[in-house]
Amino acid sequence: MNDAANLHNDSLVIDSHNDSAVALIRRGNVGLGGERQPERQQRAGAVAYLRQYQSGDVSMQLDIPMMRAGGIDAAFFAVDTTRAWGNHLLYTLDAHGYLKREIAEHRDDILIALTTRDIDTAKRDGKLAAVLAVENSIALERSLYALDALYELGVRTLTITHSARNEAADGCEVEGGGGLTGFGRQVVARMNELGMLVDVSHLNDQSFWDTLDASTKPVIASHSCCRSLCDNPRNLTDEQLKALGAAAGVVAITYVPFFVDTSAPSIDRLIDHILHAIDMAGESAVGLGSDFDGGGDLLEDASHVPRITDGLLRRGVAEETVKAVLGGNTYRLLQATID
Ligand SMILES: [Zn+2]
Repeated sequence: MNDAANLHNDSLVIDSHNDSAVALIRRGNVGLGGERQPERQQRAGAVAYLRQYQSGDVSMQLDIPMMRAGGIDAAFFAVDTTRAWGNHLLYTLDAHGYLKREIAEHRDDILIALTTRDIDTAKRDGKLAAVLAVENSIALERSLYALDALYELGVRTLTITHSARNEAADGCEVEGGGGLTGFGRQVVARMNELGMLVDVSHLNDQSFWDTLDASTKPVIASHSCCRSLCDNPRNLTDEQLKALGAAAGVVAITYVPFFVDTSAPSIDRLIDHILHAIDMAGESAVGLGSDFDGGGDLLEDASHVPRITDGLLRRGVAEETVKAVLGGNTYRLLQATID
């Protein structure tokens, strides 16, 4: 094994965003362990009803075998509830219910992490860890008690918005949008109390600043890149990167090609984003958030993540910094928020 492979295997690797839970269902209830049996397609639920199966396509970017091949120790499994058409909480429960059943069926391989101790336990026992996430607080249907209930279900992080407006805040594609609403402030406050990690990816600029200001705990941008390298409202400005770092948060660089580069996205360009984020936010404020199965197509699948470690070493990044980016920083952020 070369140096990069050794370093990758020695590191705790955490991926702070995938959309794989819904993708498993939409591929026809395929299995987290790589099962592709047609009889699994008998199950149905809200996601299957509202979003339909994608006929014939059973390819995934992330499942247990691919996590193992890519040396990913822990992954945030998000349910993006944006397209649930008025059934947001039900859709969230359906997708996380499916995921939890899959995790239970594969309990020898993967566990649900409620604290960082669970990530430690998984690593010690040769298992993977899943952190349950919800993307878009529209899932709450305007109920703070639903937030409590999702916490009880095991959800440990919530993205405040998708790119559109919801009851809590405005997303990055709302023209002339405002900031965090009164309800949004209540959501952030309750997340801080419960021990849930606040996710600012997808917010518009005003809502980003409002959320950073409102949260008493450090926050994550679970899947975003740098706007000064690729001008897209989903990416963070240099000022935002600096503020996130100063507030002990993490920006997890994502593998969505059009957030990396509009003309020639590449692994090398992805490394540029990581290095720029380190320059702006600091080496303890940068992580990885793939968006596998949700647009993170710059890497073919989760088994290719070691290419990032290789790319960072080739650019002369110190081994300790590489380990921090691969997972150390996000682990520390989880310690500060969910433990
Ligand atoms: Zn997203």
